Amino acid sequence: MSARALAAPSARLTAGAAAVCLTATALTIAAPPDADARPRETEKNAVAVGTGGAVSSVDPEATAIGVEVLRRGGNATDAAIATAAALGVTEPFSSGLGGGGFFVHYDADTGEVETIDGRETAPAAMPHDAFINPETGEPYDFFPERVTSGVSVGVPGTPATWAAALETWGSYSLGEALKPATKLALRGFVVDQTFHDQVAQNAYRFSAIEPTAQLYLPAPEVGSVFRNRDLAHTYRLLSRKGMDAFYTGSIAEEIVDVVQSPPTTGRTDLPVPPGFMKPSDLARYDVRRPPPTHNDYRGLDVYGMAPPSSGGSTVGESLNILEQFDVGAMSSVQALHHYLEASALAYADRAKYLGDSEFVDVPLAELLSDGFAAERACNIDSDRAAPKPVAPGEADGEYDTTCGGSGAPTAHPDTEGLSTTHLTVADKWGNVVAYTLTIEQIGGSAITVPGRGFLLNNELTDFSAVYDPEDPNRIEGGKRPRSSISPTIVLDDGEPWLALGSPGGSTIITTVLQTLVNRIDLGMDLPEAIAAPRASQRNTEDVTAETTFVEAYGAELRALGHTFSPTSEIGAATAIELLPDGTMQAAAEPVRRGGGDAGVVDPSPPR
Ligand code: GLU
Repeated sequence: MSARALAAPSARLTAGAAAVCLTATALTIAAPPDADARPRETEKNAVAVGTGGAVSSVDPEATAIGVEVLRRGGNATDAAIATAAALGVTEPFSSGLGGGGFFVHYDADTGEVETIDGRETAPAAMPHDAFINPETGEPYDFFPERVTSGVSVGVPGTPATWAAALETWGSYSLGEALKPATKLALRGFVVDQTFHDQVAQNAYRFSAIEPTAQLYLPAPEVGSVFRNRDLAHTYRLLSRKGMDAFYTGSIAEEIVDVVQSPPTTGRTDLPVPPGFMKPSDLARYDVRRPPPTHNDYRGLDVYGMAPPSSGGSTVGESLNILEQFDVGAMSSVQALHHYLEASALAYADRAKYLGDSEFVDVPLAELLSDGFAAERACNIDSDRAAPKPVAPGEADGEYDTTCGGSGAPTAHPDTEGLSTTHLTVADKWGNVVAYTLTIEQIGGSAITVPGRGFLLNNELTDFSAVYDPEDPNRIEGGKRPRSSISPTIVLDDGEPWLALGSPGGSTIITTVLQTLVNRIDLGMDLPEAIAAPRASQRNTEDVTAETTFVEAYGAELRALGHTFSPTSEIGAATAIELLPDGTMQAAAEPVRRGGGDAGVVDPSPPR
């Protein structure tokens, strides 16, 4: 029996999910996006099952646009870019033209998984001490000072990613892919609580920057209609002239202007220091095409994102460690104990070895090898949590029979944002996309390019703020900061089975990992795997855990030595599973961050 058959959800659960979704999907599809339509509130549906293609994103307008592209004959890449462009309208504080991301694609014709690294890049002139306050010799406080800054803005990679993806796998032109989002920006959308709260939480930062204050303040009321005509005009310009207009034309000049001379209002005491970006940094930007990471997990092929993301290596290493144990036969508490211990070990290695592999030597093959996993797995005691932080392993090309791990754990403060968005698409031909994009913090650098309708990222804060020559994530001009973004595609017998990803800064890795373990080992179907309470052990003294997780498992895990730092929510995953009967199950986060939206082209009849 194949691993896929083993992992298939029970018929009862599948049928239940299909029934839940039928109505939902019908609602989404009944009213395709239309520039002339009145702005409307679109209901969110966490699950959809059917055929003809599927989209799962955090937003109903964006999912509806992606589903409509698939319905009209576009492929997974066309739909992914159209959905991403729509998220630039409705989720502008988590993604958009001013940011970057990582795109993973399964090609049904070739059977290959390939990637695009569209990560933001440090300007060539960025100095090692860019985040150090010259008056104190210490790093500026992370939030809001270091974040709200020209220094933190990396050269955006999202426009180049969209162009490269369409050129490589798409059937749409850039103009066709951007058209639905352009209409959406013009007709507007109904503001929900999440949008309102994200502006309200950033109101002080936004009030520091003139074009941002003009575009977003005061925080739009829930239920009001928000339009972004500037962004619509930008999308139109790029549709006509191509993405070169972003990197070498007037938009490039305007980006450099605001980074070098942030348009402050004088109404706050934020320093908003100028950044180091020059026109040449934008002109030389290009995406990279690293091979995906790959590891085998219980007969499934798991593909993820290579450096500068630490996503593929850390998810993969954790899975390889877990593969040393029969997690499926364990009690829930034992399985979770092993999950937490495995991720702590993999995070210790992430801190020691992961950075931009064009600048540092990342021992990727060894980190993803079964030999290394065995060396690391023998540090796990099923009766006792190891004191954290644990030591990293020795990626020395040799596999010890004794438990590997020595030296001081490398600890750099974890400041990655809780912003970002993930979308997953599958088309009727069998192509699949997992795409995570970001502007880092919610609201990015808070610097809007005047008249262009998009925010610039603060991705360079993902570098370690204090320079340490031993640190693979130290600041260097031209380098890409380490990411945790983990778009993942899982194949079973060479065919796509599952694709997923999540926002959540460094918790992205554990959200993807925990969802995979829930689905593959713990007998949950995909919606259950996404909804289950989460915990994230990133080699810190306490496990970051949702309150619901602590309530459910805290007492028994404490007895094993785990301690908890409770939080309200972790991540907001979206995913698609190809079910054994040939239907697609799109699943989005049901509750966290206000919930996401899943859609399919042709909903299955209830079974
Ligand atoms: N900057 C983070 C990363 O690349 C993502 C931020 C987030 O998810 O909020 O890993």
